[in-house]
Amino acid sequence: MLENVFSPVRIGTVEIPNRLVVPAMVMNYCNADGTATERYIACHEAKARGGWGLIITEDYAVAPEGRGFPNIPGLWDDGQIEGHAELTRRIHDAGGTIFAQIYHAGRQATSLVIGSQPVAPSPIPCPLIGETPRELTIPEIREIVKKFGDCALRAQQAGFDGIEVHGAHGYLIAQFMSLHANKRSDGYGGSLINRLRFPLEVLADIRSKAGSGFPVIFRISGDELVPGGRTIEETAAIARVLEHNGVDAVHVSAGTYGSGYAIAPPAAVAHGWITGYAQAVKQVAGVPIVTVGRITDPLLAEAVIAGGKADLVAMGRASLADPDLPKKAAAGRFEDINRCIGCMQGCMGMISLYQPATCLVNPALGLEEELRIRPAETKKRVFIAGAGPAGMEAAMVAAKRGHEVSLFEREDRLGGQYSLAAVPPAKGEITAFISWLGKQLADSGVSIHLETELTEEIVSREKPDAVVIATGSAPAPLGVPGSERAVTAHDVLAGKVAVGRRVAVIGGGMIGAETAHHLARHGREVTIVEMLPAVAQDAQEYVRLFLLEGLAERGVAMQVNATVIAVTEEGITIERGGEREEIGPFDTVVTAVGLKPCNGLRSKLERKAARLLTVGDAAGVRKALEAVAEGYRAGLEI
Ligand code: SF4
Repeated sequence: MLENVFSPVRIGTVEIPNRLVVPAMVMNYCNADGTATERYIACHEAKARGGWGLIITEDYAVAPEGRGFPNIPGLWDDGQIEGHAELTRRIHDAGGTIFAQIYHAGRQATSLVIGSQPVAPSPIPCPLIGETPRELTIPEIREIVKKFGDCALRAQQAGFDGIEVHGAHGYLIAQFMSLHANKRSDGYGGSLINRLRFPLEVLADIRSKAGSGFPVIFRISGDELVPGGRTIEETAAIARVLEHNGVDAVHVSAGTYGSGYAIAPPAAVAHGWITGYAQAVKQVAGVPIVTVGRITDPLLAEAVIAGGKADLVAMGRASLADPDLPKKAAAGRFEDINRCIGCMQGCMGMISLYQPATCLVNPALGLEEELRIRPAETKKRVFIAGAGPAGMEAAMVAAKRGHEVSLFEREDRLGGQYSLAAVPPAKGEITAFISWLGKQLADSGVSIHLETELTEEIVSREKPDAVVIATGSAPAPLGVPGSERAVTAHDVLAGKVAVGRRVAVIGGGMIGAETAHHLARHGREVTIVEMLPAVAQDAQEYVRLFLLEGLAERGVAMQVNATVIAVTEEGITIERGGEREEIGPFDTVVTAVGLKPCNGLRSKLERKAARLLTVGDAAGVRKALEAVAEGYRAGLEI
């Protein structure tokens, strides 16, 4: 089924054993001086062992003032080579091929990170960063060109098999190429050939230093998706020029920081949504073309290549979720692939705070050695209460370590309330994680007791060695007069209650906003009532962007800065700015005013269980990212 995916391809002088590529992704794992850490090396090593055809590292800054993040790698100094040479040695020992992506962030750097004013072709702020950059002089441009060449040479000396020049995503090279950011009227601005002067000088300098046999991929945004930005027609023209200037492959992505959702799209964006850009470039360029863009399944990668849209497929977050994806795909073990669900919580959610990247579905990401699943010294009987993601994760890890694990769930299915999170539009992929966990539990011999609540009596009778309480959370009460007339968002999402035509959703956090979206998509007239000035403020930026777009499209009304005083027979009484107001009428009032931990079992077991651990929402209501990580660690601790 994957004959195209598992066929070799050449990029310049290097043969790539299969078509699955790890693209550059900021992880924030390196030291602040750009040198490699064990964490950085180990995370790439896991992917090399997992069978990826080509690993492209995250962006190596060509100069300290070109860094967009505080803990990315750098090769601006010879002293940085040795640590990164250790990386390439270990990747090669594991059978992998590794290219270094090299870049300068230009105006997409911030003075917070680099300690000085960012530079750019023109003094125009990046729409996201908002800092006005300093316009580069021509001597400064020539200096940066040389830094790219020097960086490529250091990458070669460090043992990388090639490099990728980052000309995408609105960084410095992209800024020169785009009329959106480049307003120069000298030899580096204006006409297309002038705007290409900087990247072509960079390529020439790289070739003069690293030689013609050192493979070079050029990454470019097919469409910048910003007003006045480059579109695919001009990108295709550029690709031909790049090919004539010795580029060995073109990697076609999309977006700039002004359209950041395109760089790391959330679950609301379709899988493979920009393969058409790659195809447009492939039609005019003779070098291998790499595509990217929320491709999480090897079967989709196969169809993209078989359809002639691209030669290689980059699967970034899919490689964070499961570094062993290629190996499993090659063995036909598709059900064992742990899939990226597009949640954005661990990857973008963390790196946008300048924190190390994590992954909701793969808590061991970046902690591969520390959190390795090793056999337990003593086999124990472990009871786990609650089959939400925290409980399932704990059960899976404990069972893989050799413990005898029994998992108790009072509902008739696995997943707990997390299954309900899959109901609103664009959230369906959550089910992939739950079904993956279910398969792992079955394979590792966990004894699953559905429709069975773990009780004090069962624990007293059976005397397990350890109990993990993962009983999750329940909707918090509204606590105003007339609350009994309302139904919970949980019951709505579970399909347990009938919902009328005119609906008010009280609580505009993510659960409330997504429930409103779900109802609006099913023909209801929905009003969100929120006490804060805006809704869905707890959602990751790009998730929120699409959610708000969906709410607006469906005409969902917003009552913000509104405190609910009462639910009446006709509607709702709210207070805003000291004034009371009646809103409605509503046929159904839905509450989504937060969650409270369900952990009543804990106090009952405190003196009964030899070892007692509480994880996930039962320990304190937070995101699924934390719940899953706690479950994993509990499985290791027992
Ligand atoms: Fe995918 Fe979520 Fe993991 Fe990011 S945190 S890689 S979006 S599953």
